Amino acid sequence: MTTWAERAAAAILPHSQALSLAAALKEWAYTGRFFDLEATDGTCELCGQQELRYHFEIENRLTGATLLVGSECIKRFDITGVDDQGRRLTADETGKLVDRHRRGLVEDARKRRVMTALLRLEQKVLDFEAKSFLDFVDDKGAFTPKQVAMLFWRLGSAGVEYRPTDWKVRLRRDSDYGQLRTMKIAALNRVLPALTPPQRKRVAEIQASFARNGLKWHDPR
Ligand SMILES: [Zn+2]
Repeated sequence: MTTWAERAAAAILPHSQALSLAAALKEWAYTGRFFDLEATDGTCELCGQQELRYHFEIENRLTGATLLVGSECIKRFDITGVDDQGRRLTADETGKLVDRHRRGLVEDARKRRVMTALLRLEQKVLDFEAKSFLDFVDDKGAFTPKQVAMLFWRLGSAGVEYRPTDWKVRLRRDSDYGQLRTMKIAALNRVLPALTPPQRKRVAEIQASFARNGLKWHDPR
């Protein structure tokens, strides 16, 4: 059986000056360049892991060779890098930097999927304008429960694919919860899969407190 270390040695020794894996790894650094392959068909050029969606580049400072690897390998092999100001980072700090870059890629991909769905809906449906909704698709932007119910219904009827978990639902004010409480059951069932686990927990707590007081939580108008 081949271990991670054996596969990594076979991958990097031909592109390194050192003759042992441990010494060779010290010649390599994370370049801070990363790529979204937009499909899970990437392979880690260090360990051979398949079905990667995101690639991170490492470079050998002595040979100039580069490899595209998974974020896990940068951490597993303690590969170091530099920050935005060019300061050398420890392996731990580099791991955090890679994680941050990865989160950015995941978030960008999420936003692109939401925007693509909105634009597809606009192409298919004459009376739908994506523009006013596109503004909600940023870091802080979240849709109200009513907007999500309407958008999911329209996307579904128009046959536009969407992932409920890509859509952020705003549940901050009482009025946001009020929207959930008073929407039709079909609409509520469309919105619930879009809630984050903490949001779902909060809704369940509120439902339970209504029930304790002998009140009906869901009350469609
Ligand atoms: Zn790997």
